[in-house]
Amino acid sequence: MPLEVLLRAGSDVANWHGTGMGVMEMSHRGAAFGDILERTLADVREVLGVPANFDILFMQGGGLAHNAIAPMNLLGKPKAIGAPKADFVVSGSWSHKSSVEAQRYGDVHVAFNGKSTQFKTVADATDWQLRQQTDYVHLCSNETIDGVEFSTLPDLSALGIDAPLVVDCSSHIASRSIEWHKIGLAFAGAQKNLGPAGVTLAFVRQDLTDRAMAICPSAFEYKTIAANNSMFNTPPTNAIYIVGLVFEWLKSQGGLAAIEANNLVKANTLYQAIDGSSFYSNDIDVAWRSRMNVPFKLANEALNDAFLAQAKTAGLLQLKGHKSVGGMRASIYNAMPLTGVQALVAFMQQFEQQHA
Ligand SMILES: *Cc1c(COP(=O)(O)O)cnc(C)c1O
Repeated sequence: MPLEVLLRAGSDVANWHGTGMGVMEMSHRGAAFGDILERTLADVREVLGVPANFDILFMQGGGLAHNAIAPMNLLGKPKAIGAPKADFVVSGSWSHKSSVEAQRYGDVHVAFNGKSTQFKTVADATDWQLRQQTDYVHLCSNETIDGVEFSTLPDLSALGIDAPLVVDCSSHIASRSIEWHKIGLAFAGAQKNLGPAGVTLAFVRQDLTDRAMAICPSAFEYKTIAANNSMFNTPPTNAIYIVGLVFEWLKSQGGLAAIEANNLVKANTLYQAIDGSSFYSNDIDVAWRSRMNVPFKLANEALNDAFLAQAKTAGLLQLKGHKSVGGMRASIYNAMPLTGVQALVAFMQQFEQQHA
């Protein structure tokens, strides 16, 4: 989280704009929260360049609930006879999870699986085994754990597939420009780049809001949420308010283009330090390396605990890699300044000198 946002949220917590109430205490139907919601929606649309034919929805349940919400909303009117179909591009552990959950709702086919190459790369889209009859194609545009990011999205219509692309962009939303023209549905839990846990943003192309399965709960049905302006039930008001502060902060930083340029410098700084040393390594195909989540390993893994302990002493926290892949991971989300990455690199070089 940007420090400015935390400080502002803290000073507003008991008294928002002189109302004598914090956002958590307001009625979600009142004028004050109505203003917050409208302003946040407008800023999200402006900063992310969301086209007018997309609804922006504030939902709950996080990214994982969306692994069920997306199929329940898109598989109700299958194109072909038989079970509805969903094709998955498995480029890491999040898209794998999504493909497993979707099996509850339809016939799932894995069109590409990076597991055989340890999720180090993704094949060219022309080599994916997509089905003509699929009702949608799912991918995760930034694999948070594996550190694999799409620098450009596939154009399904150019591949001859007449189906919407569903994108889990939880861990890199608002870090780079978005190719909306290739997307049917995008979703992101807020807690990586947009604010606190508890609110999920869904971006739904309006022609896709009438495809829900009958079993889809009303509170998770895009059509219902859109018709009620994200207030079918009480929305996570305080989380939405803080997302609004994050978007104000994004604007103050110069918007998406400026943030993207900064993220590129941050990522290059860290990857150059890793590649320039034989003490550290990242073996993801260079074209698929994530700008947000940089996993790396120490050549001598026996030093992992010492690395983490000394990093902590240096004020560098949360560097332990996910347990499924081990090693280290630097998550350098939007709010991490370049100086933070430079401090990490300086620490890594010092640690290497001590232990090499
Ligand atoms: C963190 C993350 C999620 C998890 O979402 P929850 O909010 O914990 O349900 C889903 N997808 C990706 C890519 C993530 O990074």
